[in-house]
Amino acid sequence: MKAHLLKLLALGELDAAILEAQRRLKALEGEVALVERRIAAEKDAFAKRVEEHKALRARATEKALEADEIDEKIRTYQHKLDHDIIPYKEMEYLKEQVEFLRSRIDEVEEEAIRLMEEAEVDAEKLKEDEAAHMERLAKLEGEKNELLGKISGLKAEIEEFRQKREAAAEEIPAHLRSHYERLREMYPDPIVRIVHGTCSGCHLNVSQTTVDRARDGEVVTCDNCSRFLYLESAL
Ligand SMILES: [Zn+2]
Repeated sequence: MKAHLLKLLALGELDAAILEAQRRLKALEGEVALVERRIAAEKDAFAKRVEEHKALRARATEKALEADEIDEKIRTYQHKLDHDIIPYKEMEYLKEQVEFLRSRIDEVEEEAIRLMEEAEVDAEKLKEDEAAHMERLAKLEGEKNELLGKISGLKAEIEEFRQKREAAAEEIPAHLRSHYERLREMYPDPIVRIVHGTCSGCHLNVSQTTVDRARDGEVVTCDNCSRFLYLESAL
C-alpha cells in the first residue's frame, strides 16, 4: 500500500512541476509581448523622427523655390521696363513691384539658406539618431530572442514532464488514478499532508482512524475535501 502512496506522490510532484513550468511559460510570454510593444514603439519613434527631417527638407526646398520665383519675376519685370514700350501707369506699377520684390528676395533667400543649413545639420544628427535607434532595436531583438529561446526550452521541459507524468500515471491502480484526476480538476494540490491532525488542503480535522491508517502508509482521503492525505512520518 505504501508503494501506491509513493507513486501517487511522484505523480503529484510531476503535476506540480508542470503547473510551475506553465506559470513560468506564461510569464515569459508576457515578457515577449512587452518587448514586442517596446520594439513597435521604438520603430514608431524613429519613423516620426525621419518624417520630421523630411518636413524640414521640404520647407527648405519650398523657400528656395519661392526665392527663385521672386528672382524670375524681378527679371521679367525688369526686362519689360528695359525693353518694352509700356504705358506710364504700368511702368510705375512695375517699378514699384520690382522695388518691393527686391526688398523681399534677400529675406526669402536668407531664410532658404538658413533652412538648408538647418537641414544639413539635422541630416548629420539624423545619422547619429539612426545609429542609436539601430543599436536599441538590436538590443531589444536580442532580448526577445533570448526570451524565445527560454520559451522553447521550457516547452521541451514541459513535454518531457508530460511524458514522465503519463508513465507515472500508468503505474497507479485505475481507481486511485481516476480519483486523482478528478481531484486535479478541482485543486492544484490533490495530495496533501496531515499536519497536527488536520488536512492541510481544507484545514479541517481528520478522524483518528484516518490518521492511524495514514501512519501505516495506507492511501487515505480527507472526509471533507476528498484530497489524498499522507503523514510525512510514514514516508
Ligand atoms: Zn481536506
